[in-house]
Amino acid sequence: MTDYNPSSAHASEFISHREVMATLDYAAAHCNDSVLANEILDKAAIGKGLTHREATMLLYCTDEQITTRIFDLARDIKQRIYGNRIVMFAPLYLSNHCVNSCTYCAYHAKNRTIPRRKLSQDEIRREVTALQDMGHKRLALETGEHPVHSPIEYVLESIDTIYSIRHRNGAIRRVNVNIAATTVENYRLLRDAGIGTYILFQETYHRPTYEQLHPAGPKSDWAYHTEAMDRAMQGGIDDVGIGVLFGLHDYRYDFAAMLMHAEHLEARFGVGPHTISVPRIRPADDISLDDFPNAVTDQVFRRIVAVLRLAVPYTGMIVSTRESQECRELVLEVGVSQLSGASRTSVGGYSSEQTDDSAQFDICDNRTLDEIVAWLLQLGYIPSFCTACYREGRTGDRFMSLAKAGQIANCCAPNALMTLQEYLQDYASAHTCSLAPDIIERELNAIPSLKTREITARRLQEIIDGKRDFRF
Ligand code: SF4
Ligand code: SF4
Repeated sequence: MTDYNPSSAHASEFISHREVMATLDYAAAHCNDSVLANEILDKAAIGKGLTHREATMLLYCTDEQITTRIFDLARDIKQRIYGNRIVMFAPLYLSNHCVNSCTYCAYHAKNRTIPRRKLSQDEIRREVTALQDMGHKRLALETGEHPVHSPIEYVLESIDTIYSIRHRNGAIRRVNVNIAATTVENYRLLRDAGIGTYILFQETYHRPTYEQLHPAGPKSDWAYHTEAMDRAMQGGIDDVGIGVLFGLHDYRYDFAAMLMHAEHLEARFGVGPHTISVPRIRPADDISLDDFPNAVTDQVFRRIVAVLRLAVPYTGMIVSTRESQECRELVLEVGVSQLSGASRTSVGGYSSEQTDDSAQFDICDNRTLDEIVAWLLQLGYIPSFCTACYREGRTGDRFMSLAKAGQIANCCAPNALMTLQEYLQDYASAHTCSLAPDIIERELNAIPSLKTREITARRLQEIIDGKRDFRF
């Protein structure tokens, strides 16, 4: 018996420690049962997802055949649901003033060696213009928690500023927001400001570790932080993005608990998380990996991504520039559907050359957006700048409804092609442009509906002729 209740409003019940421990015991006890593992994989193959217990058991399995099947199936599901599309975005750091004391983050309040910065609205305009000049259409706003430097009014004003900027053919069409856990009222204000996804990482679900890593500041309240997505949904935000910082605690604990969090949102609000991010602990200004014995290897990381793809097939999965090109390539194949590109994790890092001393963490993938787009094309992927659902009001479980109606290939795929064509016309190098035509033709021919294919082909030509912003 555990106190686990996925529908509860209380974090200690929907992330029941006892249930997580029982799950880990169950997984350890059954991980060599290949009959059971194959049954779970058969269930995953239907594309309906897995429970946290089933997925955790697969995470534990060491059998080679099962492992091979996990990766093959993850690849297959990724291909079936997302095709070759990879959605691109960039983070935008507004301020690194922070009252919290997260021991793994260079922005923690006691770090006196880092310069503190906060962007003015004019500086935001410069940053966004620089991002638009690269070709970005989708941003994730990031800011430290500070009642004076980044109150909700500042965040709302910044969102307004970002949406208002038009520069050549550039426009930011979707602003996702990653700010500290806040009140229902503030979430409602964010919803009214037209945000895309509200993103908040749990860091670790393991309460004692969480409390140890967050010794002071508002974020030290584990329950308030863990219940943030409930308040966001009560405030009318139905796209939420969850994630843990793998390496803070035993990854298996956080893996199981994160899936319990997803089950909770589904049970209580009828909509699971829109995205799951899979950051790993990285070194930064005064942060050393030696302090984090739970840091996960590339091999484990890839397995986490693959099993998540089986467990929550319709939830977008995000990997950032914390990861190297090699590692990103490995996880793209088995589940990741969104990538950041050309990221700067410092405040003002896009429009100014000399601000990396204010970075939140070190970046591993330092390539330009054009280089990343070229790389994806060479790998056979379609870099997508699509924001259509948000702009058509298809929020919440809309990806699921597209999927259920069998419309992904007739909707996401053409949108990906059209936004890629815009990118090629407006921002790409000659080399990148030369890589695209064959792939665009291949993907165009793969659109099942003849009518959609014809409309898409016509619109691709219209984009070449100078028109912009088509969407299905
Ligand atoms: Fe502040 Fe966020 Fe860094 Fe914690 S992780 S110190 S809340 S910026
Ligand atoms: Fe995402 Fe909607 Fe675009 Fe598909 S059409 S890629 S679900 S925004």
